[in-house]
Amino acid sequence: MKEALFYEKGEGNSVFCRLCPRLCRIKEGGRGFCRARENRGGVLYAANYGRVSSAAMDPIEKKPLYHFHPGTEILSLGTFGCNLACGFCQNWQIAHADPPTRFLAPEAVVAAAMEQIARGVPCVGIAYTYNEPFIWYEYVYDTARLAREKGLKNVLVTNGYVREEPLREILPYIDAMNIDVKGFTAAYYREVCRGSLEPVLRTVELAARACHVELTTLLVPGLNDSPEEIRSLAEWVASLDPEIPLHFSRYFPHYKFDLPPTPLSTLLRARELAGEKLKYVYVGNAPELDAGDTTCPSCGATLIRRRGYRVQVAGLEGNACRSCGEKIKVVV
Ligand code: SF4
Ligand code: SF4
Ligand SMILES: [Zn+2]
Repeated sequence: MKEALFYEKGEGNSVFCRLCPRLCRIKEGGRGFCRARENRGGVLYAANYGRVSSAAMDPIEKKPLYHFHPGTEILSLGTFGCNLACGFCQNWQIAHADPPTRFLAPEAVVAAAMEQIARGVPCVGIAYTYNEPFIWYEYVYDTARLAREKGLKNVLVTNGYVREEPLREILPYIDAMNIDVKGFTAAYYREVCRGSLEPVLRTVELAARACHVELTTLLVPGLNDSPEEIRSLAEWVASLDPEIPLHFSRYFPHYKFDLPPTPLSTLLRARELAGEKLKYVYVGNAPELDAGDTTCPSCGATLIRRRGYRVQVAGLEGNACRSCGEKIKVVV
């Protein structure tokens, strides 16, 4: 285990973790809410440092990132634990249980990504994903710095629930983020995710100024899918940048939730409503809708065609629409 960053010593041998907005007070021998940080003798340790529960080469579109090196792949890693507790958690086996892990040093991860490239795989770098990467902070930081030295990209797929200081320190090494904005009311975050909305919005604002950002909202029927909430979300994103891609994802029953899956009509309505404010709105987790293409917001031409994870960059000339010349915010 490695000593954690961002904590303070308290009375006796207790510590205060200052990595995420929970600000856990952890007694000696205990772990924080996320289960990833442990107090041993008054010292806080990153219990998950280097502990990898899942590793795979994934299409970058699966993160989802649709405007960041479309059609490439990325070495994707996760550990265990999470600092939110969403009732619908789709990755609960690693976020809220104790999966088997193996140790992978940062050097080994970077070497594995470089090996993929040497074998001709279109690998752009490393994604920290599956569970919540910010509670893997020390490991992600060390690995991302090494990866950057080798010219690899670093991607976070995150719930955005982190304090400002750690976020600012890691952003210089991060190239892209997909951030969940799980809903757009304080009540939804409090009651469904056991967190709070404001820190997530601040993360999005800071990240959008520093790296490529896309957002994901899992629509849960009756809980966060009202037209008013969708409009408010889209207006807020547009106030930052109307070119930030927003992905509406289809919910399926998982973990503690047994509500039926999101109706396809709800996803289409959300796309239409958000599309009034934003240039790129996608629907994910619903292959039957075939709604993954990127089209030119100016002339409607298909720029990137997606059939499942088969991706064809068909209508782009560099960063511009081949048909009308419109500048498109996509990192190629
Ligand atoms: S990172 Fe974990 S231990 Fe630290 S405050 Fe957040 S939930 Fe608590
Ligand atoms: S933030 Fe993600 S991993 Fe964590 S509880 Fe929510 S859905 Fe699960
Ligand atoms: Zn065009």
